[in-house]
Amino acid sequence: MDPSLARREERRIARETRRASFPYLKTLEEFDFTFQTSIRRQALGPYLGPELVSGGRNLILCGPPGVGKTALSIALAYKAIQHGARARFVTCTELIGELVQARAKGEWEAVLCGYLEPEVLVIDEVGYLSYGPYAANVLFPVVDKRYLRGRRPMLLTTNKDPQEWGAVLHDADLGAAILDRLLHRGEILKLVGRSYRRYRPGQLSDAAEASAGKGGEVPERA
Ligand code: ADP
Ligand code: MG
Repeated sequence: MDPSLARREERRIARETRRASFPYLKTLEEFDFTFQTSIRRQALGPYLGPELVSGGRNLILCGPPGVGKTALSIALAYKAIQHGARARFVTCTELIGELVQARAKGEWEAVLCGYLEPEVLVIDEVGYLSYGPYAANVLFPVVDKRYLRGRRPMLLTTNKDPQEWGAVLHDADLGAAILDRLLHRGEILKLVGRSYRRYRPGQLSDAAEASAGKGGEVPERA
């Protein structure tokens, strides 16, 4: 590639990475698949290339804390940026809070647009906190409109079985409708295993750590 084009491309990637508002940057190359063995890199194949966007594919990463759900969602969104897409990262709590406020202030369309425009939307931590009564009503239009536009992939992480989202969002019907749209061109990948936060490879074993009086906890959010 022409060096000036390569520099421009580097600047674009850096700019889009800042705009995506990732809580931290993790690349797929940095993700340790020898620690997280419940998912194989090959299983992520459909989410790694430009076809993530061209095929409008969705992915729900499901599992307990620390197994790498957020890290993988960031790594996949970053790959999409490298392939030329725009991405946005938001927690489910932030998204619901912002949309509920926007509705009250008459700014619904503008704020909703901000969640429809980026080619890739990461919604992190669905079901971690309890949401207010309007949760499903504001989340549904985001999922539905992105689904109808066809090429608007969503990457979601959750600690709950997605079948329980209806209860989490206070609306069983909308919860089912949200899941139905996501899974039409998408799938659920379940991650299991130990928390990377607590048992980083190379650290003392948990038993040794406990006897040394250390938690081994890395201060970072779930
Ligand atoms: P959660 O499943 O709770 O979302 P995270 O993805 O936030 O967990 O992972 C917690 C921390 O551990 C992050 O700093 C993340 O980058 C790191 N991490 C988790 N799993 C791996 C892994 N397999 N390889 C490298 N880093 C990992
Ligand atoms: Mg997380």
